[in-house]
Amino acid sequence: MGIFQPHRRLADEGGTVIRSINDVDVRGKKILTRVDFNVPQDEQRRITDDTRISESLPTIESIVSRGGIPVLMSHLGRPKGRRDEKYSLNPVAERLADLTHREVLFAPDCIGKEVEDLVRTAEPTQIILLENLRFHAEEEDNDPVFCKSLRGLGDVYCNDAFGTAHRAHSSTSGVAALFDTVCAGLLMLKELQYLGSALEKPQRPFVSILGGSKISGKIDVISSLLRKCDSILIGGGMMYTFLKAMGKEIGTSIVEEDRIEIAKTLLDTARTLGVNLAVPVDAVVADSFSNDAKTQMVDVDHIPSNWMGMDIGLSTVEMYTSLIANAGTVVWNGPMGVFEMPNFSHGTRAVANAMAEATRKGSITIVGGGDSAAAISQFGLSTSVTHVSTGGGASLEFLEGKTLPGVAALNK
Ligand code: AMP
Repeated sequence: MGIFQPHRRLADEGGTVIRSINDVDVRGKKILTRVDFNVPQDEQRRITDDTRISESLPTIESIVSRGGIPVLMSHLGRPKGRRDEKYSLNPVAERLADLTHREVLFAPDCIGKEVEDLVRTAEPTQIILLENLRFHAEEEDNDPVFCKSLRGLGDVYCNDAFGTAHRAHSSTSGVAALFDTVCAGLLMLKELQYLGSALEKPQRPFVSILGGSKISGKIDVISSLLRKCDSILIGGGMMYTFLKAMGKEIGTSIVEEDRIEIAKTLLDTARTLGVNLAVPVDAVVADSFSNDAKTQMVDVDHIPSNWMGMDIGLSTVEMYTSLIANAGTVVWNGPMGVFEMPNFSHGTRAVANAMAEATRKGSITIVGGGDSAAAISQFGLSTSVTHVSTGGGASLEFLEGKTLPGVAALNK
């Protein structure tokens, strides 16, 4: 199931176009490319999931196969502006060489004379990977001098790191302004295409599912989606702030007291706009925050004191899965319960299954990164939905309708 056309230029709201790497003549040129190689690693620094590397391969191949040299730059973890071997991209360079079957030259830093020499003498077919950008505090400060140093490492700028596009850093924003030719990588374009068409011209009914622990980070996205969706289905820890706003007792469930008023406002706005802002009708509650806790299923008018809500209940699952089954477009962000504990993963799994089923029947289904991406991968359903975004924070900000600095920088 796909709506992605990699060769199409992508128009933003202002009518300008974002150029695809495929439309840039790269032969003999160095393409300074921001990628997101912020991969998870275990204690021995072994990469535990290389999805982020493999997702960038189409862009890298597009450059190398046409005679260009990719000069890749990324961050890894939070080294706090200092060199720290724990956060070196060296293991990524090795994995990249395995995945591409090409020679990867790993630079000892991301700026400086030695790096400049390495870039200057590199040959077509080789790939350069710079050391972690965040070994320099100037990366996150969007520092003009640092940007200038990076600028010297390429002839063309390309951004394929959707996951960091919501940050105005040197490598995502400042450096782009110094290039005449800027473009988007194929992963970036794919993300913008899927999320953009879901928001701009959704097949209806358009259903959003929002969960996760807290309402605080998602107020703006709920407000914005209220103006676009036919239904918004609430789950996860944030449902208890809504239930409290509706005057219900929620036992010891997670709640944000200072967000109760805003939850009331959101419920009122939904009523005014005629949007179905659905709050669960039942929940699985537990006597402690543990997989082995005692549990019971209760309707939301009867949550016992000293018990906490850990998952949505069966009636809610039925209600939500039937809305998903009839949707034209579904966007999901945030688990329905504490899915990391098997006894409280049922609601999240049911939503994931319903999305897979809806996809089979022709709906556009999008998972917005972060914990929901982890959940859908845990259930083995990542390839059964239309699109799983690689950017948690970035996809949320995109759904809020914000302009992402990393995307704005590509509008020339
Ligand atoms: P977020 O980072 O806000 O997207 O939240 C994701 C986290 O929310 C996951 O780790 C879930 O375990 C957690 N979560 C989901 N439902 C609940 C709940 N009912 N109580 C506490 N945490 C929850």
